[in-house]
Amino acid sequence: MTDFTTITACGECCTGCLKKINGECPGCIEADGRVPEWAQSGMCKVHACCKEHNARFCGLCREFPCDKLPQMISWNPEIIKHLSRLRDEYIISDLSDKYEVRTLSEEDIPQVVSLCEKNTLYYQYCPPFVSEQSIRDDMGALPPGKTAADKYYVGFFDEDRLVAVMDLIIAFPNNTTAFIGFFMTDAAVQNKGMGSNIITELCDAMSRLGMKEIRLCWVEGNPQAEHFWHKNGYKETGATNVTETYTAIVARKELRDDN
Ligand code: SF4
Ligand code: SF4
Repeated sequence: MTDFTTITACGECCTGCLKKINGECPGCIEADGRVPEWAQSGMCKVHACCKEHNARFCGLCREFPCDKLPQMISWNPEIIKHLSRLRDEYIISDLSDKYEVRTLSEEDIPQVVSLCEKNTLYYQYCPPFVSEQSIRDDMGALPPGKTAADKYYVGFFDEDRLVAVMDLIIAFPNNTTAFIGFFMTDAAVQNKGMGSNIITELCDAMSRLGMKEIRLCWVEGNPQAEHFWHKNGYKETGATNVTETYTAIVARKELRDDN
């Protein structure tokens, strides 16, 4: 697992660099970007830009991947790919201290179906009933204007057991909002505070990422969903999404720095 305290603005790591070991360079984190390499311009432009954008490294910047990056970090032609991988690892690892969180993929589908099919009430309000294909479709579904890079379809594991599934979209419908497209916990552990704990940790992680609010929907009339999200501080915005089979109530929660 990456130690993000050692990751520089451009996604490198100075630990182990010979110049640092030999005392020729203090390391750009330690020297706030004022390293011999960039002495002419006073400070590394990438480091300065991250500071200005309040981002730990470029992959976590709201403008990532910006047009300037390929030219600013011209020595690495794979820089966007590299920073995207770091961004995914950072976001996912920051989602929970209590559970192991990882991206769910094709081989996890049977486990996801098995978790979902016990939540029969959910599908009474939001038909059709879960199937392997419906989960596969959800794994690839994106809201308008978003790409797969913004989507985190993740599982929360207690040891090897899947206890919750979340579909999270970063920066939707605007740059400072995170959107929960789907959240479901294992019926066997419901009403024990686990779902609320995951959502509280999510709020903290999204706040650290610079998000200002979380938005989501529940299906009109579903008492369990309404109770859960109200209990966790989510309030109706007044907007609804009407589909052929149900009406979704749009709700939001503002994030504070001390979430
Ligand atoms: S390019 Fe800038 S941010 Fe990257 S390691 Fe060098 S000084 Fe640090
Ligand atoms: S992603 Fe672009 S705008 Fe954001 S900090 Fe990096 S160089 Fe600056």
